[in-house]
This record gives sequence, C-alpha cells and structure tokens, in this order.
Amino acid sequence: MLIFRKPIEGVERPQMPADVVIVGGGPAGMACALRLSQLIDQHNAANPDSQLSKENIYVLEKAREIGQHCLSGALLDPRSMRELLPGFEKEAPLDAEVAKESVWLLTRKGQHKFPIVPPPLRDHGNYVISINKFVKWLGQKVEEAGITVFTGFAGSELLWADASRDVETARMAGVLTDDKGVDKEGQPKGNFEAGYELRAKVTVLAEGTRGNLAKELIERLGLEDPDHAQTYGLGIKELWEIPAGRVAKGEVIYTLGYPLTSREYGGAWVYGITETLVSVGYVTGLDYEDPRTDPHHVFQSFKEHRFARRILEGGKMIRYGAKSLPYGGWLTMPRIYGNGWMMLGDSASFLNSQRLKGIHLAIKSGMLAAEAAFDALLSGDSSADTLSEYKAAVDGSWIREELWPVRNFHQGFEHGLLEGMVKAGIQQVMRGGNLGPDAKNRAGYTRMERVDAVGPADENRAQMIGNAKGDGKLTFDRLTDVFHSGTRHDEDQPVHLVVADLNICSERCTKEFGNPCQYFCPAAVYEMVETGQGGASGSGKELRINFTNCVHCKTCDIMDPYQIITWVPPEGGGGPNYDGM
Ligand code: SF4
Repeated sequence: MLIFRKPIEGVERPQMPADVVIVGGGPAGMACALRLSQLIDQHNAANPDSQLSKENIYVLEKAREIGQHCLSGALLDPRSMRELLPGFEKEAPLDAEVAKESVWLLTRKGQHKFPIVPPPLRDHGNYVISINKFVKWLGQKVEEAGITVFTGFAGSELLWADASRDVETARMAGVLTDDKGVDKEGQPKGNFEAGYELRAKVTVLAEGTRGNLAKELIERLGLEDPDHAQTYGLGIKELWEIPAGRVAKGEVIYTLGYPLTSREYGGAWVYGITETLVSVGYVTGLDYEDPRTDPHHVFQSFKEHRFARRILEGGKMIRYGAKSLPYGGWLTMPRIYGNGWMMLGDSASFLNSQRLKGIHLAIKSGMLAAEAAFDALLSGDSSADTLSEYKAAVDGSWIREELWPVRNFHQGFEHGLLEGMVKAGIQQVMRGGNLGPDAKNRAGYTRMERVDAVGPADENRAQMIGNAKGDGKLTFDRLTDVFHSGTRHDEDQPVHLVVADLNICSERCTKEFGNPCQYFCPAAVYEMVETGQGGASGSGKELRINFTNCVHCKTCDIMDPYQIITWVPPEGGGGPNYDGM
C-alpha cells in the first residue's frame, strides 16, 4: 500500500519567531532577501537610534545547496539586476552576451527561417546564463549580507493566525518546515526531526511555478479568477557539448512547429553558451488535447529533425532537467498580497510568454515585495493594508508596462498556431487588446480529450505521442535523462506525489484518458503495472509511483485530468542537482 507524505501528527514542534520568511531561494526569493537587506542597511546607517535586525529574516530552500533546483533556458534581461546591484555584470557569472538571433518554422521535413526576427524575440543586450550558477552567486550575496539561508528545508504547510477562508480576514502566521527522518510507512526513524513552526510577521512565497504552498493559498482563499485560470508549459532541457563551429557563443535560435502540430503550443530553443557548449530544449504547452502527448518524446523528436541534428550530431549530452512555467501572464495573476503574506515570481505569474522570459520579472517582483516587507517591519504592521504597497508598486512599475501589452498573447493560441499568429499581430497594433474583450482562459487540463475521441495518430501526430526509446546518442529514454539530472531522494520515505484516489487511476482514467501521467511526466515516475488480478474495472493495472525519479517539475500536479495528484515536497535536500544548468 502506498503511504503518502504528510506532517506527522501529535509531535511537539519547535517554534522559531521570524520577522520575514521567504519560501524559495530562486531568483525572486534571493532578490527579495537582498533588497530587504539593502533597505535595512540604509535605514540603520541613517537612524543610529532605531536599528533594525536581519537576524530573524530567513530564506528556506528545499535543495541541498543554493541553486540546485533552479532550471531555465536561460536568458537574462539585465534590467532588474542593474537596479538591484548596479554594475553587477562585472562580477556575475554571465556566460555570453547575445550577439545573434534567428527564428525558424519547422515542418516534418522542412525548415524555414523568418525573414526578420520578431521584435519580442530580439535578445541583443541580454545574456546567456546558467540560472544555477547565477542563483548560487546571488545566494552568496544574500548570505554575505547577513541573511540566513536554510538549505534542505521545504515549506510543507502554511500556518494561520486567522484561519478563515476570506482573504480580507485570513491572516498568515508563517510556515511549517518538512519533517525529517520519516520512513516509507510514515513512521519516525531514529534520526527523526520534527519540522519547525517558523512564526513570521511576513511570509513571502517564492516557490517557483505551482508552488505547493502558493497552490494551497490560492485554493484556500479563492485567489484565482475562474475566467482567467493559469496555464502552463513544460520546458525540457539538455546541455550538450558539440563540435566547434555549429553555434556561436551568444547565438540564440528559436523554432516553432515540428514535432508539435499546428494545434499545439510550444517550440524549441538553442542557446550558445560557449563555442562548444549549448543549451537546447523544448517547451510543450500544457493545454494539449491528445492525452497521449509526451513532452519528453516531443523533445527527442525535435532533436531528430535535420535542423537540430546538424547542431547536435557527434556531440555529447551532459545534463538534463525539466521545469514547468506559467504562461498565463498578467490576466491570470492571482491576488499577490494579503494579511501577513506576499507571492512572487513564477508562483504569481510574473513571466512574459511572448518574450519567453521571466527571470528579470521574478527579480523585480522580489525587490518590490522587499520594499513592502521593509515598511511592514518599520511600522510593525504587516496587514494587507501595508502589504498592498507591493501590488501598487507592481502596478506602477515597468512590470505592468511589459506584461499588460501581452496580456492576451498566450490565450490567442487557443485554436492553434496560425490563428495565434494572426491574433498576435492584431494585439501588436492594439497595445495588447483583441478585437473584442480580453480573452478568457480555462485550465489546460480541461482541454484534454478522452482517448476514444482523439483516434489513431496520423504521421504528423505520431512524433508527439508515446514514449521515446532513444538511440543513446542523439535521443534518450527517460531514465537515461533522469540519470543526467543528478536526481536523488532517500528511498525510505513516504511518497511525495499524493494521489487522492488510486481507484480513479486503475478504473476511470485507464478507460477515459489512458493514464496520461505515464506520458506527461518527464522522469518516468508513473507506471501502470499489471496486478494479475483483473481489478475492479477489469483493467488489471495499478499505478506504481517511482517517486525517487521526480525532478520536481510539477507537471503531474498541473496536467492530471482529474486533479487528484498533489505534489508536496519530499524530505528537504532531495530532488535534482542542476549543477551548471
Ligand atoms: Fe514532474 Fe510530477 Fe514527474 Fe515529478 S512526478 S517529475 S513533478 S511530472
């Protein structure tokens, strides 16, 4: 029987008071911590008689080391970093300045270069970076500034001073960190350590896409507008060493089309890190109709296209990773503040899907949240009134200037690539507006059709469905790729993919959707295995969850058609190791 992870009941939990707790040590969380530290330093220098302490400001990071769970293409628009740390270019780990871009449309057998690079994809002035190295560097700055970063600690539950379900009255009181040393039966081991109750004046959620605490908060307080549900993509990335002369250092290549059909949303990137090292990946929109769609297979098929083959053949794949990203934009942003809390970065939809960039917005959101948190500490008032300054600052900043004109961009692709491109053109002329009202958006999983409705795959669709076997040179199966993600979890712990009703998997889902978890998970976590007993439905299969493979991409939590899978943090420290990614 599967035992799922949850905090152990009835144990005494140590309490720790905090001024500010930032959950998530990615770009948004680290920028928030650093900006808060700067504001406190400025205040203390100007007010010798009223000193503020940084002692009780904490960043929680679930990875073993700072940056190890950070994954992105990655291109950095330096705008927010120049505001946070003027002159940062002199010391930050930036791999290459973008010097050349191109955009291509791929068909099954063809490749067509766009005559001009569309303005949103012009990247001159941006930098190719490893987000892992960049966040490590940023985290070092945070620690040097005197703020404590607890690595290997996840936020497992929210704590409430007022647990009402009304956003106007509910008051967050901090977070519970994960229990450590729990065996697979859910019992404490010899090394058991109960999670801490971090009781904070201000709790900042910066957990990245589909954070488990952000999800709990959004659902509990009804923060998402049902007409503008968030929608996501899954980015799968590999780092490749390649022979010199194929992609220049600082070169950026985007492709649309193959292997996805014109009904799906997504595309590939290739970034030249050095003359012989490239980041290559493919984002598949998590709003596809065919339940057999397999984003990992999509990426492998992309690499088999002659366009990618020309770049990669004879090279060597050295790293792998996968991460989801929020595509919905400004209109799908939930409320981002309340009594005692704020939400930042990918958790709160700060991503420009037209430019395929979010790091600079995540950093800026962190900086603006820090300013509101500072005012809350100074005034001793962390109510929604004070923290609403954060939202007002976002509205008055270049974040809104950038995101408002592209608010309908992703939604425009609802009926496919061609219509989306026409709508994008209209939106360009109308400052982001449509010919009618702003587009509504429903959650991507609701678009998934039943297996009997999609029919057999034709030649074009065959490249996006099923499971990739891989040739071991250019293409790989999931397990080989997971090996290259450095993923590690203690096997003796409860399963952190919490499935609310396993009968749905073996009965309804088998018949209705063909168990799409086997396809959308890029890490071979989900398997339907024969029970040899027929099963109540006659399917004779049950779900096996190979949780130790999980790369924390959150796709299952997002795309499961019954919404019965909840990703919760495994024991802190477990997960991928995205060194150099
Ligand atoms: Fe991603 Fe879920 Fe698979 Fe983990 S189990 S790798 S979160 S899809």
